[in-house]
Amino acid sequence: MESCIFCKIASGVFNTSFIYHDDQVVAFSDINPQAPVHVLIIPKAHIPSIRDLTDEALPGRLFKAAREIVKKLDLQDFRLVMNTGEKAGQSVFHLHIHLLGGRPMSWPPG
Ligand code: AMP
Repeated sequence: MESCIFCKIASGVFNTSFIYHDDQVVAFSDINPQAPVHVLIIPKAHIPSIRDLTDEALPGRLFKAAREIVKKLDLQDFRLVMNTGEKAGQSVFHLHIHLLGGRPMSWPPG
């Protein structure tokens, strides 16, 4: 989708350094990190949110990416977050998983 910032990133127009990439998924650092490690894992395809997901296999691909990244970064303790909908804090309407780590985290999140 032309106007979507994550579609642009995934297409490589900004020459973003990908922490992980495969044929369906890319991962890159969040521009406004909330933890020492803050990676966004996204599908290359434009899917606004998990509510719009029809490819049942895609979540497995996103989790595979997460697993590869935490192995690569040797992270034992981390959090995966998927904000869905404005009231839940979603600001970019292209499905993504936040991978946060490198500091202690509290619960519940705000
Ligand atoms: P959410 O608020 O859950 O939709 O998460 C969107 C995330 O995308 C936020 O943490 C932003 O900091 C991040 N973000 C927005 N634009 C960019 C960008 N150009 N490059 C990297 N991260 C971005």
